[in-house]
Amino acid sequence: MLNAMFTKKDIGGIVKLFEKNYGELKPFLNFNNAFQLLIAVVLSAQCTDKRVNIITADLFKRYIKPSDLAKKDLKDFEEEIKTCGMYHNKAKNLIEASKILTENFDNEVPKDFDSLVSLPGVGRKSANVILGTYFNEERFPVDTHVLRVANRIGLVNRKTPEKTEDDLTAIIPPNLWMKMHRWLIYHGRTYCTAKNPKCADCFLKGYCLYYKSKNL
Ligand code: SF4
Repeated sequence: MLNAMFTKKDIGGIVKLFEKNYGELKPFLNFNNAFQLLIAVVLSAQCTDKRVNIITADLFKRYIKPSDLAKKDLKDFEEEIKTCGMYHNKAKNLIEASKILTENFDNEVPKDFDSLVSLPGVGRKSANVILGTYFNEERFPVDTHVLRVANRIGLVNRKTPEKTEDDLTAIIPPNLWMKMHRWLIYHGRTYCTAKNPKCADCFLKGYCLYYKSKNL
């Protein structure tokens, strides 16, 4: 539901400012196919995209399709990804997911939300990233930046990613979902950081409820 403080014109104004300042943002994670995107997305949990891209630059020379990883020794794979944190779980999940993809999905990543979230290590946000990024579906993945920035601006007033996704998809036109997802992430990394947001310099301050509440 549209936050009562925002009209459709306001939403249009925010979109225009994002478009003007950030334009078309490319995906933050590198990949060559859907399976590699899945690997990158799983590795990115509580790890920077920059670090993931460093790890995958080498990793993707060896792992091109699920069957390349399905039979990999767990300890060896842990060694290869250990600089990204939580690597025990990530390695276990990725090898298990690769086995399932090899055996049940013809060695391919399914273009289907329910099948994706059935894979170990793939939750709602990750499935939406894969569907929106690789399969060009209209999706609105909500990560920690999207959650924080959308709530600070006041586009939504929600505590969970699921409810935030529900409300954002209700007020933003579907053709802008993936764009807005990337804009909010990028804004969360540049201006609207978790600690000490750079409000004075932010191009959205004319709309932002957080800014207005601090500058009454
Ligand atoms: S004005 Fe501050 S709180 Fe609002 S979007 Fe900009 S950086 Fe974030």
